[in-house]
Amino acid sequence: MTTTSTPRKITIFDTTLRDGEQSPGCSMNLSEKLEVAQALMDLGVDVIEAGFPITSIGDFEAVREIAKTVRGATICGLARCREADIDRAWEALKEGDDVRIHVFLATSAIHREFKLRMDKEAIIRHAVAGVQRAKGYCDNIEFSPEDAARTEIDFLCQVVEEAISAGATTVNIPDTVGYATPAHFAHVIKSLVNRVPNIDQAVISVHCHNDLGLAVANSLAAVENGAGQIECTINGLGERAGNCSLEEVVMALRTRGDFYHADTRVNSPRLVPTSRLVSSITGMLVQRNKAIVGRNAFAHEAGIHQDGMLKERTTYEIMRPEDVGFSQTDLVLGKHSGRAALADRARALGYHLANEQLDEVYTDFKKLADKKKEIFDGDIAALIEQRNTQIVDQWQFVSYDVHAVSGQPPTATITLSREGEPHTVTKTCGDGPLDALFNAVEEITGKSVVVRDFRVQSASRGKDAQGESIVEVEHNGRVHRGRGVSTDTVEAGARAFLNAINRIEAGQTAVGKREAV
Ligand SMILES: [Zn+2]
Repeated sequence: MTTTSTPRKITIFDTTLRDGEQSPGCSMNLSEKLEVAQALMDLGVDVIEAGFPITSIGDFEAVREIAKTVRGATICGLARCREADIDRAWEALKEGDDVRIHVFLATSAIHREFKLRMDKEAIIRHAVAGVQRAKGYCDNIEFSPEDAARTEIDFLCQVVEEAISAGATTVNIPDTVGYATPAHFAHVIKSLVNRVPNIDQAVISVHCHNDLGLAVANSLAAVENGAGQIECTINGLGERAGNCSLEEVVMALRTRGDFYHADTRVNSPRLVPTSRLVSSITGMLVQRNKAIVGRNAFAHEAGIHQDGMLKERTTYEIMRPEDVGFSQTDLVLGKHSGRAALADRARALGYHLANEQLDEVYTDFKKLADKKKEIFDGDIAALIEQRNTQIVDQWQFVSYDVHAVSGQPPTATITLSREGEPHTVTKTCGDGPLDALFNAVEEITGKSVVVRDFRVQSASRGKDAQGESIVEVEHNGRVHRGRGVSTDTVEAGARAFLNAINRIEAGQTAVGKREAV
């Protein structure tokens, strides 16, 4: 008979910086990745998968910096079961004091036949060799049979057993293509628990994709059947429809601890600030009705609900907004707020600013406070994000001038500077002032792009709110994102477009990333 005891602890493995970052338009630069890593630490995740070091210099450096500087979580790097991959992963991780190498190899029939052209024996040989090579570098090894959810269960049991014998301490079962359903996935995990003789020597992990909208449900089904680690991302970012959403799975376990008898060490009031931070860094908006962190997640509109809520909130509320970090008040700063007050708000929003960064943001803050009376959290986040770039911007925005009349092509003049030298171009073309400005920027910088998405939204509330513009452009088959902020929305758009061009110039290239768990 079971009695009430300490809940089983589930390891939260966050892969926002690896799987999340792989989704189109979500690539982050080094300073952005470090910022997310710090926020994940504050949130209390156990493992941070920081990147896939062999795929690009950017990934390599991010894993190395995070391993070197972030303390309090295990830092993990991904590698295929190839010597060069594993060596490169270790090269990136070796200066960390708590690190893990994560090796993967596809095991499903379709991947064996069409992608790898290997038979079952060869797969096992490669998997074992990969785990052993990684084990030569460190003790903490995770092995993933890619596309496990579509792998024959007998073969999956065999591969997992061999990987554990070779030294894997975590065996991760990925539903790479989002094919599993809860009852099916429960059966897979249960089979591993019952049939793999050495299963008690490793933690079973799951990595679910959300193609059928079941990633969280599948992960919970796995926990119910013995999984001890969940791989997930902030806001469910990730390839295609994304991964298991961290905030949802964490709150499901916490809210239904009565059923799962399991919990995580996540500091749940950090969920909303972390969600906002990741959304603002990646430009991926969070849908309003998204569970846990969406703006409407705790909004009760129906009159009968409101009535019930006033009498007793638990009639319609299973969690309290403050448990997930919706603060009761949006603290307002203004002209007379000092540097310390700004630092305090920035910290509450999840930003760790070094002294000189704080000085810069404070200067911007003072300028903004001259233009608008009340400065909200959204404004502060926008100011920080605008500063938050380690790319030395090749091109700086100086000024613009547009003349637009309905029914006539607009004329735009823009001045940019490069290494202190001004460049000005005037264009009369396009179907609107921004289009004309973008054309002028393309002409000066010599970069031709296709605009895939363009948005302007207000960074906070009020008529005088800053406009925050996000633009997504395609250049040589890769998607790049730019962000610009200004109280003038046209300038915000021009700055966002220029930011995307600067990111292209900074050359965030990546190879081989399409292959991953
Ligand atoms: Zn994945």
